[in-house]
Amino acid sequence: MSLIRPLEVMAQFHDNVVIAHRGAWKKNQYPENSIAALREAIKLGCHGSEFDVHMTSDNVLVVNHDAEFYGLDIATSTYNELLALKHPNGEKIPTVEEYLTEGMKQDKTKLIFEIKSSEVDKERTLELTKLSVALVHHLKAQKWVEYICFDFDAGAYVHELDPNAHIAYLNGDKTPEEVKEAGYTGLDYHFSVYEKNRHWIKDAHELGLSINAWTVNKPEDMKRLLDQNAEFITTNEPELLFEILEKRKNQE
Ligand code: MG
Repeated sequence: MSLIRPLEVMAQFHDNVVIAHRGAWKKNQYPENSIAALREAIKLGCHGSEFDVHMTSDNVLVVNHDAEFYGLDIATSTYNELLALKHPNGEKIPTVEEYLTEGMKQDKTKLIFEIKSSEVDKERTLELTKLSVALVHHLKAQKWVEYICFDFDAGAYVHELDPNAHIAYLNGDKTPEEVKEAGYTGLDYHFSVYEKNRHWIKDAHELGLSINAWTVNKPEDMKRLLDQNAEFITTNEPELLFEILEKRKNQE
């Protein structure tokens, strides 16, 4: 596998395939994308913790999966309006600044930053992209952050803004060659896409692209991807994936 990563940076982060999808929330019933779920992913020793980024009407970047936060539409609400609502564990919606600042208290778990496509228009998606890269640089969070996105142009724009950034494409509709050509460093496709296009993992590896897959929750799918030398596996079941890795290690 030929991943293009500076060794000194790679060395300190956990060397495993586990990426907690929206943090590690399931076992302890934390809200998805909460600071509590991020802390749990760090506590488990995941290589990465994934989170989703939206932008409020007054251009504040916030962490949440859906386009709405407990019934309030993020894109058309101000940040202050969103503060009226809370997660069931009492947390407010995290700003990306707060989320990255929390994640940067440690340097073992990477922060997998999903740029959400705007439901308003493409221009808004690219504005979110620009503000995201600017914020990551302002906080000096580059070594923690790897970007993922469904919008092909957003990832190409990240590459333009920061040629050293790690960026993986999520949408599953481009060949490894096309993804590489646009400046991406990896594929992060639904696991079924690799089943339909059986040579893509090999092709991607030959191009120096990393392989990640979402959202892999069943042992048989995890094992197959491990056999195919996927660098990363994104899962709602990080504890289960760690168990499988431990068993395989003991069988070696
Ligand atoms: Mg996501």
